[in-house]
Amino acid sequence: MKKKLTVFLMFAWLVSFSGLFAQGNYTLVIHGGAGNVDRERVPEDREEAFNAKLNEALDAGEAILEAGGSSLEAVEAAVRIMEDSPKFNAGKGAVFTHEGGNELDASIMCGQQMTAGAIAGVTNIRNPISTARKVMDLSPHVLLTARGAEAFAMEHGADIVDPSYFFDEYRYDQLQEQLRRMDETGYIDSADMMGTVGAVALDKNGNLAAATSTGGMTAKRYNRVGDSPIIGAGTYAENSSCAVSSTGHGEYFIKYAVAYDVSAQMRYKGVELEEATNSIIHGTLRDLGVNGGLIAVDKDGNVSMPFNTSGMFRGYTRSDGERVVRIFGDD
Ligand code: ASP
Repeated sequence: MKKKLTVFLMFAWLVSFSGLFAQGNYTLVIHGGAGNVDRERVPEDREEAFNAKLNEALDAGEAILEAGGSSLEAVEAAVRIMEDSPKFNAGKGAVFTHEGGNELDASIMCGQQMTAGAIAGVTNIRNPISTARKVMDLSPHVLLTARGAEAFAMEHGADIVDPSYFFDEYRYDQLQEQLRRMDETGYIDSADMMGTVGAVALDKNGNLAAATSTGGMTAKRYNRVGDSPIIGAGTYAENSSCAVSSTGHGEYFIKYAVAYDVSAQMRYKGVELEEATNSIIHGTLRDLGVNGGLIAVDKDGNVSMPFNTSGMFRGYTRSDGERVVRIFGDD
């Protein structure tokens, strides 16, 4: 009897943790940032290149989910692809600070365990999202910053690069243009300074996860940190509601706890995902004149990708075979 019980318990453990026997559906949603993204600024050949990269990120995450892997693995894999591309404001393509450097932020959260990890203001980590994951898995902390985060990354075998790895001509010109405009008018439209990447996923075991990575906002100063590495603002996941990754004017996303707000509305008000995301992006933030968007998936696999800017690089893929990749607001 005891032996049978042991065998049964071992089997139950395998079923719940291995993913091998996972039966449910999966969904993966990604974004490559919201902002002034319209057809005039993104010619057709660049549009194709963006679509190809978004599809590559979806492929990487989907391969994991399809094989019964975890949503955490999937969001990390999808974000790494976008971090390695100069096209998005994260990792290789990070925007420049006011002084002409690059300071990167990232965070990740597991909705099953309610664990999270984040890093901010790092200058030499090729894939910040993977170090954020290590902070979550291997440290008692949630958020590490600057030199401390870099030392932690080094100790845990992260891919360390020379800061010059992040130099990109296009981004550098963007900084010069912003500085010039700032001198001339004292004002820059925040939608011109943005960009970020993120992924949220539901795996076959019903577990949700979210990840976000960014270079922040062009010409940022004084070690400014936005919402992307802040759990509850840029990233949030909680198994009974949803997983969210934000993109937009970070200061407001922090003040309005945007990612957490979506989950809280679902849990406390009992509203559907789409209603919760729209109320914040097209309600609260639009009313304040704040630019941004987010991606979210709920525990049933429903997807929401609202934005109040002219475009947002975005897409999703699902176990039923549906895949969508979009850039502009009118497509
Ligand atoms: N939210 C990011 C930040 O404020 C920027 C963005 O998403 O575009 O740092």
